[in-house]
Amino acid sequence: MISDFYQLPRYQQRSFVPEQINLSDAKEVVGLFEQLLKRAIHSTKELEQWLKDRSELQAALDQQGSILYIRMTCQTDDPKRVQEYKHFIENVVPAIKPLEDKLNRKYLELSNKFPLDKRRYEVYGRAIQSDIKIFREENVSLQTKVALLSQEYQTICGAMTVIFNDAEHTLPQMAKYFLEGDPHLRESAWRATAQRRTKDKNKLDELFDEMLILRHKIAVNAGFQNFCDYQFRAYHRFDYAPEDCKKYHAAVEKIVVPLWKEILEKRRQEMNLSVLRPWDLEVDPLGRPPLKPFEEVKELISGVEKMFTKTDVELGKQFQEMNQLGLLDLSSRKGKAPGGYQSTLAEARKPFIFMNAVGLDGDVRTLLHEGGHAFHALACAHESLYDYRHGPMEFNEVASMAMELLGGEHINIFYNPDEVSRSNQNHFEDIIGTLVWVAVIDCFQHWIYENPRHTREQRYQKWLSIRERFGGSFIDWSDLDEFHKTLWHRQLHIFEVPFYYIEYAIAQLGALQLWQKAKRGKAEVLAAYKKGLSLGGSRPLPELYQAAGIKFDFSSQTISPLMEAVCRELRVE
Ligand SMILES: [Zn+2]
Repeated sequence: MISDFYQLPRYQQRSFVPEQINLSDAKEVVGLFEQLLKRAIHSTKELEQWLKDRSELQAALDQQGSILYIRMTCQTDDPKRVQEYKHFIENVVPAIKPLEDKLNRKYLELSNKFPLDKRRYEVYGRAIQSDIKIFREENVSLQTKVALLSQEYQTICGAMTVIFNDAEHTLPQMAKYFLEGDPHLRESAWRATAQRRTKDKNKLDELFDEMLILRHKIAVNAGFQNFCDYQFRAYHRFDYAPEDCKKYHAAVEKIVVPLWKEILEKRRQEMNLSVLRPWDLEVDPLGRPPLKPFEEVKELISGVEKMFTKTDVELGKQFQEMNQLGLLDLSSRKGKAPGGYQSTLAEARKPFIFMNAVGLDGDVRTLLHEGGHAFHALACAHESLYDYRHGPMEFNEVASMAMELLGGEHINIFYNPDEVSRSNQNHFEDIIGTLVWVAVIDCFQHWIYENPRHTREQRYQKWLSIRERFGGSFIDWSDLDEFHKTLWHRQLHIFEVPFYYIEYAIAQLGALQLWQKAKRGKAEVLAAYKKGLSLGGSRPLPELYQAAGIKFDFSSQTISPLMEAVCRELRVE
């Protein structure tokens, strides 16, 4: 049962936002912002109350946006849901953006007059200063256009289906054929999927071209040379710079790509092939049938609940409650948007998980991952300041990826011992693959936005050369150029959340650190994990990592020993 989100009890009674307000009505919402803008403040105490009221309004709006987004992604082919979401981002979001900026300015002015606790408001203040610095009124309409184009990307991808084996499949549903032992079946499923994607190739390229122009313009309007520098500020990346990302690319090329090649070479030998083709990468190399951890989504839910409980009783209870409240929508069906995500209903202060589960090993890992995000939202639900009730993305993904590793220790709930080691081996190989893929995607985006005037053809060529740099040519793509050069089209982040990707690598390295430490003492690591999560976004990144007992660092110094540990794990299996 999916929840009627509007029925969820709020974490706290509203005291500023009226009960009857229609949060999709821009006029009503603007009225509340104006009240906050006009309010006279005479003391630190009144300023803190003002911040609480602002938080309440932010949470109410955030929840409204989330509900509309969730409803739409659960059924992208329902025009009413699409329309309601569109209405919100076309009307409410742009109407409040300039007012948010005015509130930020008022906050800075007031906090100079009525001093607040420095440590408590340090992170809040620096984010606001940065937002003020990059805000431009003329960018609001451009940002709305980008948001609408993002939504078009969802619709285009959500509508993609393939007729295969006489049945219509969503693209996530096609993934199961890539695990089939019969190479012809695999190849034809892969080709059918790739052909379906390339059918929309021009549409997606056009969409991206438009986004690129808009994003570059937004950056220039805000006084930046390119969108990369702008986006680092917009994402509040205060603790690292584009240069650090480039160092990461170099470290991956040197330390991780050789491992990745080793893994692929082992696979090639085991499969007894002269070369690996793109459809040979996911099947079991020893010809065993695919792991089938569950048939029905309800088995997935009850198994993962047991895994969480074994990891930590409190976390198990939290997951159970989410299920009871209807906060899980996990099965794949036509019209549902691709992928998986966790979203937080900011007034209820409850998490929601969205997935496209079809009965694969990866589904169990995904649910562990999104479960980690959900625990994060619950761990900082007590925080009174809305802005502190979510962490920075570089730490959010530690919450989720660490849960894949720590919770993953109990995957025997689904498997026998042989299957356990297969699943673990897959997971660690995936981690290596992901560290490489992040470098590819990140490197590509740096190039795109540093060279905004490139042509489509140059973009394809650059993509292929970056693939080559990071070991992509170890797989034989001959005669598949058309598919290879558009491979990035399937990476939602490039379209919807540009530059949001390096976080996965930074956080994976954090999660691996926790996994290493857990070998020496699990209870301690879980306590530190929860401590880190409970801080939400109230402290700078290095301190969040420190609270969780790990180091915020993604240089070769951190990568090298962790890769050695992963190698040991892979050889033991
Ligand atoms: Zn995540």
